[in-house]
Amino acid sequence: MCGINSRYEQLRREEKLPRKMVQTERAESQAMASASRGETSSVAVVGGSAAGLFTSLLLARRGLSVQVIEGLETIEPASRTLIVTHRMRSLLGSAMNGSIINQIRRFELFTDGRSATISLRQPDLIVERRTLIQHLAAEAQRAGAEIHLGRRFHELHPNGRGLVVEVERSADGGREEVRAQTVIGSDGAASRVARSAGWPPLTTAPLMQAIVPLPKDMPPDTVRVWFVPQDTPYFYWLIPESRERGALGVIGESGQETRVALEKFLEKRGLDPVEFQGARIPVYTSWVPVHRQVGQSSVYLVGDAAGQVKVSTVGGTVTGFRGALGVAESILNGGSSRELRTLRRELDLHLLLRRSLHSFEQADYSRLVDLLNEPTKAPLSEYSRDEAWKILWRVCLRQPRLVLLGLRGLMMRRRSLGRQRS
Ligand SMILES: Cc1cc2nc3c(=O)[nH]c(=O)nc-3n(C[C@H](O)[C@H](O)[C@H](O)COP(=O)(O)OP(=O)(O)OC[C@H]3O[C@@H](n4cnc5c(N)ncnc54)[C@H](O)[C@@H]3O)c2cc1C
Repeated sequence: MCGINSRYEQLRREEKLPRKMVQTERAESQAMASASRGETSSVAVVGGSAAGLFTSLLLARRGLSVQVIEGLETIEPASRTLIVTHRMRSLLGSAMNGSIINQIRRFELFTDGRSATISLRQPDLIVERRTLIQHLAAEAQRAGAEIHLGRRFHELHPNGRGLVVEVERSADGGREEVRAQTVIGSDGAASRVARSAGWPPLTTAPLMQAIVPLPKDMPPDTVRVWFVPQDTPYFYWLIPESRERGALGVIGESGQETRVALEKFLEKRGLDPVEFQGARIPVYTSWVPVHRQVGQSSVYLVGDAAGQVKVSTVGGTVTGFRGALGVAESILNGGSSRELRTLRRELDLHLLLRRSLHSFEQADYSRLVDLLNEPTKAPLSEYSRDEAWKILWRVCLRQPRLVLLGLRGLMMRRRSLGRQRS
């Protein structure tokens, strides 16, 4: 709790929070005044996972009345190992303590017998998702949010000056109604809130990973990435969770082909899977406006529900938290959020990179790995994947041939990005 507070204070001092949010206390107190009149303050957050709980925490701390509606019966989400940049620390502060299970200091990239190593100045973090979500839930509750478990969102409709959210109890199928002035959909890539409020479906891609014993030659602080364009326009990865285990995964285009590719890759590497994890994840193809007016009230989307995923690497945790922060700012400021503007710029840049990489053939990847020489690697070591503009700008200066390679990829456009969920 105090982590987020103190982080806010620090950002505020460093003027990294939007002036409008931190300086127009008036806007906030106006929001609070209308909150106390019951006009704008009641918020229903559908989906009590990472993005939804963080949004709930931020709003509850500012005195809004927050009800979280979560389909699961307990706060025991599927366990999943996430790799995130150190940016997450600055967003969550102490709320993420206890969920960090390993740190990554190096990336090894492989393609067609070639390799390149990139050391990270600030380590990436390996986070256990279940623990993180349980921490966030406890923090949100402590801030005053109410969490209703075992309630599945069904639909929403306007009613007078507010919204009625219809939910179904998982236990007996009975229906309940929750009334709120504002609804936030944080119910993942297949968001029912988004459909109900009129957003079109997102493009998605299958992500699958197998938990495997860590190969003996693999240091626990190193991630391995393989580019095999004949299998996938994305990549394979092996991320160590600990000295003993790692997650070997791949993103593909069709579920069946991705599963077959993963099994073949496991076999080729002589790795025995202990467990499989997977889901369809959003493919960012353009910015999804996060707000819609329904009747006289507002509906927002955050996290995977809004497609807030870096499509170059398909990481959605940090960007989902940034989306949550942006929507919280937007609600408290009456519309404005600098965080959402910078997030959009960042996601658009990752889209540009993905469009280029998506057309790469083996020869292009070989060239890419060969061009990752010392001067080019420096920005990759220094800046995280959540600071793509800084990396790209410096790489352009140090290795113009990489820019030409990227432009070539963009012009080829051999494959399109994912497909839309029907
Ligand atoms: C196997 C796998 C590995 C991944 N690895 C990484 C990684 O290493 N790094 C990274 O940054 N990202 C990773 N991601 C992506 C990352 O997990 C997601 O971007 C992130 O978890 C999205 O969080 P969210 O809160 O937006 O949505 P979700 O985590 O999808 O949460 C949605 C919540 O809504 C609830 N819900 C859904 N429908 C309803 C309903 N109708 N009513 C009520 N509740 C509902 C669900 O129960 C769930 O709690 C991975 C994804 C997968 C599948």
